[in-house]
Amino acid sequence: MSEQNGSPDPFSDTSVQSPAVSNTTASSDRPDRTVIKAEDLNVYYDDEQALNGVDLEIPERKVTAIIGPSGCGKSTFLRSINRMNDLIESARVEGELYLHGKNVYDDDVDPVALRRQVGMVFQKPNPFPKSIYDNVAYGLDIQGKEGDYDEMVETALRRSALWEEVKGQLDQSGLDLSGGQQQRLCIARAIAVDPEVILMDEPASALDPVATSQIEDLIEELAEDYTVVIVTHNMQQAARISDKTAVFLTGGELVEFDDTDKIFENPESQRVEDYITGKFG
Ligand code: ADP
Repeated sequence: MSEQNGSPDPFSDTSVQSPAVSNTTASSDRPDRTVIKAEDLNVYYDDEQALNGVDLEIPERKVTAIIGPSGCGKSTFLRSINRMNDLIESARVEGELYLHGKNVYDDDVDPVALRRQVGMVFQKPNPFPKSIYDNVAYGLDIQGKEGDYDEMVETALRRSALWEEVKGQLDQSGLDLSGGQQQRLCIARAIAVDPEVILMDEPASALDPVATSQIEDLIEELAEDYTVVIVTHNMQQAARISDKTAVFLTGGELVEFDDTDKIFENPESQRVEDYITGKFG
């Protein structure tokens, strides 16, 4: 097992950092280092409370799954990490959400820069009506990134396991790809701007089983380089691909958070056991 000796404690840092250095240790073998920490996080839509006092520490370069019944606040939690809830007028956030010890809700945090560092992939693939190349280069352009775009686009497409399928057709529209390819293109677009964290909200729920399986394999690979947080309603999927699982239940409460094996084989909470075994939800 390769330890990350000499690496600074993420909570000693006061700034939102650039992405972590890559290594090749399997994500499940690496010791946990916290990247994201929620402390007494409450989110309201007008008077309705969607998250209730959530305390959660998300480890670096692992896959953390957020599961729970519909309406329990999974997406709300995900959106609170990169301040996508800012875009919902009725949403109000209380409590703290730290990225490397820096509260992302502090006045001096630029949400646009935050969203580059904490990228997001949505349920429905949403490529731009542009070429495959331009979809991936888009963020680089916006960022005014200097360097060899061809190389950066290729790297992002390789990392999203799409390169071999599209390398001869980079000028074609992203919209002409299959659903699974479109979703991998969206992942490439998120990766291109060098994020540290990738949030995924039900990324495979609109895909067929083969495409789902490809995305699941890809998510596990991505955890070699990125911290991945995935919302899924599919418990088998969470069990297959995640290292850690957080179970939210009705009322926006985080009921249990632990290693995925523990959650699925021997949860502490009876409510979690009932949910996992399908007694409700
Ligand atoms: P989940 O992802 O677990 O299905 P959500 O985070 O989408 O749950 O929703 C949690 C609660 O917040 C639900 O009661 C939902 O109706 C409410 N909610 C979610 N998004 C909005 C919104 N944009 N405006 C108002 N209420 C919302």
